[in-house]
Amino acid sequence: MVFIPPRNVSHSHGRVLGSNLAPVSLPQVSGESQLTVPFNKVLTTNLELEYIREAMTSGRTSGDGQFTKLCKAWLEEQTGCESALITHSCTAALEMAAILADVKPGDEVIMPSYTFVSTANAFVLRGAVPVFIDIRPDTFNLDESKIVDAITAKTKAIAPVHYAGVSCEMDAIQAIAHDHNLLIIEDAAQAISTQYKGRPVGGMGHMSALSFHETKNIVSGEGGALLINDPQLLERAEIIREKGTNRSKFFRGEVDKYTWVDVGSSYLPSDIIAAFLWAQLEQSDYILQRRLEVWNYYHEKFVDLETLGLVRRPMIPAHCQHNGHIYSLLVKDLATRTALMADLKSKGIQSTFHYVPLHSSPAGLKYGRTVDSLDVTNRVSECLIRLPLGSGMTHLEADYVSNAVIEFMTKHS
Ligand SMILES: *Cc1c(COP(=O)(O)O)cnc(C)c1O
Repeated sequence: MVFIPPRNVSHSHGRVLGSNLAPVSLPQVSGESQLTVPFNKVLTTNLELEYIREAMTSGRTSGDGQFTKLCKAWLEEQTGCESALITHSCTAALEMAAILADVKPGDEVIMPSYTFVSTANAFVLRGAVPVFIDIRPDTFNLDESKIVDAITAKTKAIAPVHYAGVSCEMDAIQAIAHDHNLLIIEDAAQAISTQYKGRPVGGMGHMSALSFHETKNIVSGEGGALLINDPQLLERAEIIREKGTNRSKFFRGEVDKYTWVDVGSSYLPSDIIAAFLWAQLEQSDYILQRRLEVWNYYHEKFVDLETLGLVRRPMIPAHCQHNGHIYSLLVKDLATRTALMADLKSKGIQSTFHYVPLHSSPAGLKYGRTVDSLDVTNRVSECLIRLPLGSGMTHLEADYVSNAVIEFMTKHS
């Protein structure tokens, strides 16, 4: 693995990379070198602090300042969306989408059970019913062949989640949505800078929600965006984001005073957060490259384990361009995963599993409806392990982690 200096982090400014890229020290543990590898080591540079300081000293720290505008323009350019509205989280963006979709109590939204709670919660807050269907065994994305059977007279929308930054089968989903007059609300929380058949993910649904939470590829601590692709939704989206007022129109000089015109809330982040985000977006090519390097390194290293039938590596369809958001392995059962995670932990390596399925969670049982048995969801939930992956990860760390996995799996086959 080569380490490339980050693009856009100009050396002429004398900026020095954070300590993240420096080789980690090797404490001696019982005669053997042992590293401590956190699950998510984020690369940040002095650029973030510089822009945050700039936002603070500009005298304009509330929402929609200069940094918010830069982030908005970047996302619009990158995804081709009609408008990118920066929010304080992906959860907030999904809540806005649920209001915009006009879901009413009893309406249904089809989604995978294998997702984060916010995908469902946003609609439950409007009184709607999340309808859980199973995922595909290859990508762990919602299984588009199960959508039609889940549709009823109450179905309002489909919420595909692009797991690990690998796109759902959007051609099929768009055809179904068109035939049944449904909205598509993409949960693209993990999918910044990804593509499906050459089309940017986030630009294919009527609306799409992105996340900049610290666990994602591009971070601002907490942060998100709602991408509006259907121009008809734009005017109302701006109003909902601005506490139900037409303040955005006022600032553009389109009305001479602003007033309360619809329901809404406060969904816009401070420009200080946007300053953090802008520094990250400026470095996004480098961050993406770093993550893909680690991802590809793991992928090469685990070829033999897969050939031996000991693990299954991620499967990326040829028409999907992913962003190295997650590196996961499927092992044969829960006991193996538990033992592997414990072994890695004893070696200072932090690994995690992923979603506890929503359909069998207490709130999922109370508020949702499940279609058929979700066998793939249940199995992936028990057998999937995620390995450390971050833009600040070193070659040494990736090597250490993969060797530990290989050693354990070959011994316990
Ligand atoms: C992270 C994530 C969210 C929530 O994002 P926040 O910005 O933390 O609100 C929603 N859905 C998915 C699939 C996620 O991975």
